[in-house]
Amino acid sequence: MTTYADLSTDELGARKAELETQYAEIKARGLALNMARGKPGADQLDLSMPMLSLVTTAEDCRAEDGTDCRNYGVLDGLPEAKRFMACMVEEAPENIVIGGNSSLSLMYEAVARCLDFGTLGSTPWCQYESVKWLCPVPGYDRHFGVTEAFGIEMIPVPMTAEGPDMDEVERLVADDASVKGIWCVPKYSNPGGVTYSDDVVRRLAAMECAADDFRIFWDNAYCVHHLYDDAADQDQLLDIGAACREAGNPDRYFKFASTSKVTHPGAGISAIAASPDNIAEIKKRMGVGTIGYDKLNQLRHVKFLHDAEGLAAHMAKHAAILRPKFELVVSKLEEGLADVGGCSWSSPRGGYFVSFDAPEGTAKRIVSLAKEAGVTMTGAGATWPYKQDPRDSNIRIAPTLPPLDELDAAMDVFVCCVKLALAEKLLG
Ligand code: PLP
Repeated sequence: MTTYADLSTDELGARKAELETQYAEIKARGLALNMARGKPGADQLDLSMPMLSLVTTAEDCRAEDGTDCRNYGVLDGLPEAKRFMACMVEEAPENIVIGGNSSLSLMYEAVARCLDFGTLGSTPWCQYESVKWLCPVPGYDRHFGVTEAFGIEMIPVPMTAEGPDMDEVERLVADDASVKGIWCVPKYSNPGGVTYSDDVVRRLAAMECAADDFRIFWDNAYCVHHLYDDAADQDQLLDIGAACREAGNPDRYFKFASTSKVTHPGAGISAIAASPDNIAEIKKRMGVGTIGYDKLNQLRHVKFLHDAEGLAAHMAKHAAILRPKFELVVSKLEEGLADVGGCSWSSPRGGYFVSFDAPEGTAKRIVSLAKEAGVTMTGAGATWPYKQDPRDSNIRIAPTLPPLDELDAAMDVFVCCVKLALAEKLLG
């Protein structure tokens, strides 16, 4: 196959001129399309509308133990809400605390607690001259935003098809006690769609860490977000909690999840799960800052989704909406970029993103060309700590929000921009 790099200068010049004409035509259409953030589409949000009418009378506001959920109390969440979230975080209900509408804020608070107070008797991390954090890349920009906000030094670690490069992780944690944590999106990762292999999970649980208060931040945001219904087409993830217990490091992990992309983002419920000692400490500290989270919303969620089976049935409805979008993105890339060369992308089986690696040095230009043509993408570099992608290559494609016809149009624009940026680069 002849790729752009194989073309003569004249051939490439002619190709670039064609692409410029195509690009000008696209620009003239005055598009306003958005593939920037991983938000559900309106049709997905509609799926959960019945939930909003499940708690309307005073009687509806009673929890199973009779608690009047309109009132203060129950810091760690209703028992039925913990039982329900157990099917997302795979932990015994007593080792779960139900939070508010955002798992990201639970993560933010967990980092803040460790910095201010240490964890399980350890030195507060803020007393170290520097605190370091492992950041698998490409990764989730808001994770990096949290550690950056606290002045924690972020160390990129490459992702492989099986999770973070564990040789590198083991090397980094082995002899530096200021390396305190790692961000992990272990299933259908953001943005790569990677699910950690059993071997990676076991190595994370068992590795020798210089810091005995090292913590794995296990953000299982996409734990039930499969694109395919058949179990054989769904990724399976080993439980980090069980792996840590087996390895003799039961306190090493904090697990997080939420119903943001199950029901309504910003109006869901979240959970943190950890060892009994960690949970006791979390409750003690959390109880200073709140009397308890929104129990009415916990009730709504339990009444609507019930249990693991109810959750899976609901997620299958999301999958039916999302599957064609992901398949469209991948087929547009395959068709549009087959003869271009230097590009690669993920074909995820779940989650919310397609990760696209453009030819080195072109990602910023592609995103800016797309923006000018009316298609907003996640900023180039966003998938790296400090927004610094050293190869200027990775772009996160978020196909969930636009309706199919808009996504179709947006992907045509994107493909044109990739080709134009590469032609420009090769011609110098
Ligand atoms: N974690 C990951 C990996 C995400 O991709 C997102 C949202 O895109 C979140 C957390 C945000 O979760 P929440 O809405 O529960 O704060």
